[in-house]
Amino acid sequence: MCLFCDIIEGKIPSTKVYEDDKVFCFNDINPAAPVHVLVVPKKHFDDIRDIATADDGQEYLGAVAKAIDVIAEDKGLGSGFRVINNCGEDGGQTVMHVHFHVLGGVKLNEKIL
Ligand code: AMP
Ligand code: ZN
Repeated sequence: MCLFCDIIEGKIPSTKVYEDDKVFCFNDINPAAPVHVLVVPKKHFDDIRDIATADDGQEYLGAVAKAIDVIAEDKGLGSGFRVINNCGEDGGQTVMHVHFHVLGGVKLNEKIL
């Protein structure tokens, strides 16, 4: 069972922000900024290393970049935003289906940590 696979399949509700054939994007349930969207490949990859080494991983990563650009435009993030990927336990990844946090709508601190 994978939470994000269930969200992509519509078994668990979410607030969709953007979708194409390769990615599904929805609002984070616990937002850390006024805009906090999760960009999630529709195919299950465990993490960024898994998608990086998969035969079709580059196609999905390209779709992720496209989705981030569309979201930035739609959400009015032209003055800037942050993209975060947590990888593995020590990286703070809690959902083991690769995803990218798009955070914005406020001036973010220059320090990541
Ligand atoms: P990470 O810690 O990078 O694995 O991020 C997982 C993110 O998923 C967290 O920011 C959670 O708030 C978010 N999340 C968990 N469950 C849901 C859900 N049902 N709908 C939307 N976001 C969720
Ligand atoms: Zn999954």
